[in-house]
Amino acid sequence: MKKHNFSAGPCILPQEVFQEASQAILDFNNSGLSILEISHRSKDFVDVMEEARSLALELLGLEGKGYKALFLQGGASMQFLMVAYNLLKTKAAYLNTGTWSTKAIKEAKFFGEVAEVASSADKNFKYIPKGFFIPSDVDYFHCTSNNTIYGTQMKEFPQTPRPMICDMSSDIFSRQMDFSQFDLIYAGAQKNMGPAGTTLVVLKDEILGKVDRHIPSMMDYQVHLNKASMFNTPAVYAVYVSMLTLRWLKKNGGIAGIEELNEKKANLLYSEIDINPLFEGYANKEDRSNMNATFNITNDDLKETFDDMWKEAGINGLNGHRSVGGYRASLYNALPLESVQVLVDVMSEMERKA
Ligand SMILES: *Cc1c(COP(=O)(O)O)cnc(C)c1O
Repeated sequence: MKKHNFSAGPCILPQEVFQEASQAILDFNNSGLSILEISHRSKDFVDVMEEARSLALELLGLEGKGYKALFLQGGASMQFLMVAYNLLKTKAAYLNTGTWSTKAIKEAKFFGEVAEVASSADKNFKYIPKGFFIPSDVDYFHCTSNNTIYGTQMKEFPQTPRPMICDMSSDIFSRQMDFSQFDLIYAGAQKNMGPAGTTLVVLKDEILGKVDRHIPSMMDYQVHLNKASMFNTPAVYAVYVSMLTLRWLKKNGGIAGIEELNEKKANLLYSEIDINPLFEGYANKEDRSNMNATFNITNDDLKETFDDMWKEAGINGLNGHRSVGGYRASLYNALPLESVQVLVDVMSEMERKA
């Protein structure tokens, strides 16, 4: 039986994408060949790469606005250093909202000075700092739109004349916003877009070429842009499955369509967390993420019973990250509303029993 998969990443993808992706392993496009054995330079795959790149821009509403999309390797973690390698001349501003921001800051420091404009480390990243000041002499401002581990999400982004860079690994394609306020967006595919192995980078090419240092080819955005994201062998299968997922998203109303569903799912779960005395939310209410809902059980003696109950109900991946504990329900695009209903039913059943 298919599980209700609340895993934080790699995460649930649409069932129809799994169907089509498994077929392509046996016979891709009726070619008599598997997608796993064809050249990445073949027309069939070049078409996949081009469709994936253009779907990404189309869905984000960035077509014809000076942006390009790349599918690179090395995960979002590689972007922590590539961003700084390519864009940091002397000083960059970073907002620290959790583990991933902290790691991005650490990598940036290899290349220059980092001004940490604000941090929520004082409360173990339960909230998003607001009203901070971004110095005007920085090369860029970097933030993390959704904090996968703590379950917080930026609802607003600062105005800054400097280029704005955003790690959107865990909420890309999940909610509508003006994506043109960002100059570079990156996201590891495995949270909301596809399988592990590729990372989407969407950037305005006008921000490049401003640093003096020599950039090794694989680290150089311009090299990847010049080669249409095919400088070396890309993660063929991961890009293909991401492309299928983006097609699925487009067919289902794009970001506007999925945002509506994502809000329903988050409202359903947070309402239960708020009314059920056995549970309490972890993140500050106003900063709660619609992608990762973090919560605790108020009576530790009931933990074992609860764990048995949700496992019994066919739920997978509900344990919180080790740095937060408790529970985390990830509500990514492909998770159906009915899975959230199953979880909410278990939680209210728990209350009746207790
Ligand atoms: C998971 C995650 C990362 C790290 O991604 P990798 O692809 O494993 O390097 C970075 N940022 C955020 C927000 C994440 O959720």
